[in-house]
Amino acid sequence: KARKQFGQHWLKSEKALGKIVSAAELNERDRVLEIGPGTGILTRQLFQQAEAVVGVELDRDLCPILMQKFGKIDNFLLLQGDFLALDMDSLLEPFPGFQNPNKVVANIPYNITGPILERLLGTISNPNPKPFESIVLLVQKEVALRICAPAHSTHFAALSVRVQYLANAEFICDVVAKAFQPPPKVDSALIRLRPRQIAIPPSSPRQMERLIRSGFSSRRKMLRNNLKSQIEPEQLGQVLEELGIHPNVRAEDLSVENWVSLSDRLAIDPGSV
Ligand code: SAM
Repeated sequence: KARKQFGQHWLKSEKALGKIVSAAELNERDRVLEIGPGTGILTRQLFQQAEAVVGVELDRDLCPILMQKFGKIDNFLLLQGDFLALDMDSLLEPFPGFQNPNKVVANIPYNITGPILERLLGTISNPNPKPFESIVLLVQKEVALRICAPAHSTHFAALSVRVQYLANAEFICDVVAKAFQPPPKVDSALIRLRPRQIAIPPSSPRQMERLIRSGFSSRRKMLRNNLKSQIEPEQLGQVLEELGIHPNVRAEDLSVENWVSLSDRLAIDPGSV
């Protein structure tokens, strides 16, 4: 029986399964990390196509079931625990074939999407020093739209900037609720992230994070109003002009590159933002 508190919704659609696996573009050299293997429906596809798979499952009761199914599979390793708390590096040390997974494929519990993304990608001020080649995830559709939204679109939000600064984000496809058992109450979608090299990091990444947070705080307001308590409108106006950006701009109209340049040119008192 699926446990609600662990966000358990088992995939049951072959079609959805096929889309996930093909989005991962697996080859026999890939070492895949799967968060929440559950009953193993996706896991099986992964270890058949990749060199090795490491699954991290929180639910203690599922682990014996998984081991019964896959205990003899020598390129699958199961770790029991909370993905958000596990020290993967030290746990994987005794298993040479499983070290440094290069891809992530998972049907994650939607209620911890934010923390999972942060663990996989890192943050603007602290990017993951060992970036994955690609990360294929099923997430709530609303969140997928935000993660992948281009600037100027209705879904472009603080999350879009935070993720797209760290990775190239692609919306792969919708996945209907009845592809899962039990069906979630929200729509789902498949996304693929490809973490990228940050060529020129902002001079103050923390400041960039604060700017994004405040800039998007009230969506209908202009940027200068959202930042009013931290930056003199005159100073902001000047910087926007230098960057060729309209003074009445809203946060959703600034591209990821704009946020980097803006943050670099604004001298903000860190205590005030
Ligand atoms: N992969 C399976 C599938 O597609 O049918 C299960 C997906 S289900 C949406 C999410 C899985 O993540 C469940 O098996 C749940 O127990 C597990 N899970 C929930 N929170 C977790 C955490 N913090 N760390 C690791 N696994 C977790």
